[in-house]
Amino acid sequence: MARPVQYNIKNEGGKAIQVVDSPEGFGGEGFFTTKLSGVVGLARKNSIWPLPFATSCCGIEFMATMASHYDLARFGAERLGFSPRQCDLLMVMGTISKKMGPVLRQVYLQMAEPRWVLSVGACACSGGIFDTYSVLQGIDQVIPVDVYVPGCPPRPEAILDGFMKIQDLVGKESIRRRNGEKYQELLTSYGIQ
Ligand code: SF4
Repeated sequence: MARPVQYNIKNEGGKAIQVVDSPEGFGGEGFFTTKLSGVVGLARKNSIWPLPFATSCCGIEFMATMASHYDLARFGAERLGFSPRQCDLLMVMGTISKKMGPVLRQVYLQMAEPRWVLSVGACACSGGIFDTYSVLQGIDQVIPVDVYVPGCPPRPEAILDGFMKIQDLVGKESIRRRNGEKYQELLTSYGIQ
């Protein structure tokens, strides 16, 4: 079965590999100038190392997203890491119980900056159908989230869409953002120093 058309990586010439667009800048005969943030963003967004934190059914959708049909590797994110210290994208998929909240937070804290968080599925985003005493009503109660993917479960296309939104954020982020006051305020609001 062919991949969904919108995710096929083919240019008009029919070549199988496409070169990413260069960052904004000025070019001429034999030269190109741009911002350092643009170059760093370009490298970061195309070499994301995801850390899958899958606790239930949405994790199965993630398995499909990694498998050959959808193949997250096409986005430069083939290398899943299972040590938080090596990864820069925390993908949270599944129902997170209140007991699991501190564990999730610990994993987040062990990741080095810059780090991003993708919340996949209704459970991770809001507790989903489990409006109960034992389920965390959204992981953004314990860690900051960059992109939310709705659905119960979201299809792999939706996970890829969320992933590409993360890539947009990563590509556009200034290299100074993590040292800025606003980001420090965000961390402080979560009790993170
Ligand atoms: S959002 Fe739905 S599919 Fe995903 S973990 Fe929750 S109940 Fe399962």
